[in-house]
Parts: sequence; C-alpha cells; structure tokens
Amino acid sequence: MVSQINALVGVIATLLIAIYAFRKKQLTEKGVIAAMGVGITLFALGGWTWFSLLALFFISSAAWSKFKKNEKKPFTQEHEKTDVRDAWQVLANSLFAVVLAAIHFLNPDAALFAAFAAAVATVTADTWATEIGILDPNAYSILHRSKAQRGDSGVVSAGGLAAAAGASVFIALSAVLLNTVNNDLAVHGFSDILTAQFVGGAMFVAIVAVAGFFGSVADSWLGATIQAKYECPKCGKRTEQPIHSCGTKAKLVQGFAVIDNDSVNFLASIAGGFMAYVLGVFLF
Ligand SMILES: [Zn+2]
Repeated sequence: MVSQINALVGVIATLLIAIYAFRKKQLTEKGVIAAMGVGITLFALGGWTWFSLLALFFISSAAWSKFKKNEKKPFTQEHEKTDVRDAWQVLANSLFAVVLAAIHFLNPDAALFAAFAAAVATVTADTWATEIGILDPNAYSILHRSKAQRGDSGVVSAGGLAAAAGASVFIALSAVLLNTVNNDLAVHGFSDILTAQFVGGAMFVAIVAVAGFFGSVADSWLGATIQAKYECPKCGKRTEQPIHSCGTKAKLVQGFAVIDNDSVNFLASIAGGFMAYVLGVFLF
C-alpha cells in the first residue's frame, strides 16, 4: 500500500505541477482544481508509476504547445478553445485513465496497466499530433484524403502522424521505465505483479504503442465524423465553436452539437485503452 510519506509527496508533487501550470497559463483556475483531483486520485490508486505517466502527458504536451508558437498562431484561431486547458479538457484527457486505475486498484491485472498506458498514449499522441502536425502544410481530411485546413479536427498530415507515433512509443517506453525504477524503490504494492510481467517487456511496449497510435487515429476519425462543426453566418468561416470569435452565433453544419473536441478526446482514450486491454488479455 501507499505509505503516508509517499502519499504526502504525491500531494505536494501534484500541487507543484498544478501551480506551475497555472502560472505558465497552461491551466485555468478550474483546470488546476481538476488536475489536482486527478493527480491525487491517481497517486492514491496506483502510486508513482501511474501518477508520473499522466504527468508526462501533461508536461510534454505543455512543452510542445510552446514549440514554434507564433508560426502556429494563424492556424489555431478557429479552434474551439485556447491552449489554456480548462477543467473539461483535463477530465476529457484523464477520466478514462483514472477509471482504469480504479479498476486495477480493486483487481490488479497486467492488461489493465497496458490499457491505462494506452489511454495516456492516445491523448498524448493526439496532443503532439496537433501541436507538431499543424506545422505541416500538407494536411488532408482523414475521410476523403482531400486537402484540408491544417489544425482542424479530423485533419491528418505526415508530420502529425509521425508525432502521434513518436508520442505513443514515448509513453510506452516511459511506462516500462517508470515501473522498473519505481519497483526498485519499492514504493507501491503492485510492483511485484507489474515487474514480473513487464520488465523488458517488448510485447508491452508494442501493445501500448500500437493502441495509442490507433486511439489517436480514432480521435481524428471521430473529429471528422461526429464532432460538431459550425459555420458563421456573418463571416462564412468554418469554426469548432458554437459562438464564432466575432460574437455571432454559428450554424451547425456537421456532426452533433453535444459532441465537442473534449467528448472526442474522451471517446478516443476509451478506444485506445480498450484496444490495449483486448490485446493484453490475448497476448500477455
Ligand atoms: Zn464570424
């Protein structure tokens, strides 16, 4: 079980990351509260390995959002939200991972850890793909391979797919590394189960990387099909916001009004996690 000192360090680590993110304008006030809730819950359920893996998603995504920021600006204007993450964005990206951690807490199973890592890999891949892929001028709709506006949901590019693959491998390797290091430090109760199955686990890395990449492609596909897209009657511009940046109420032209970018991210994390779970059950 998690020792009291470790739990305290976990709370402090969560607090420091959240405060830093808020000061760097990566999170809104409610986003900070949501992130702290997620961080502390994850720490209590899974310890350092699980907590750190999700922290890597957040830290790496924040770093890439700074990368060539000015070059990306013209293509991010019609996005639903800014790069300051609010509570819904935090939950959309982490809620399914927390659910998996809770199930694993009650019923430890290697495939559940793979599913958790894949859910984190999915949202990491999606974020890296957005932040890096937007720099690739050759963007295409995932549905008809026709040229599309880069930065839009449902649009893919070679740069974005490469970034998604890189992120998936990064999270998969980090999961194994964190698990190994944390086991050596013996900071949580599941270490024996996990290490027995995962140290040097090439199969684990392959499953998480493939499922994470699959999840991010599912994210693009959902973004192109069911996600709400609007058109501003005043400027004629396409937008992902129900109210256009000019202040005019936009008209729904595609998808469902209830499905926004957050819902798509949440569904994609389920797709990625589920795929890894199924592969894990069959292959471990
Ligand atoms: Zn407008």
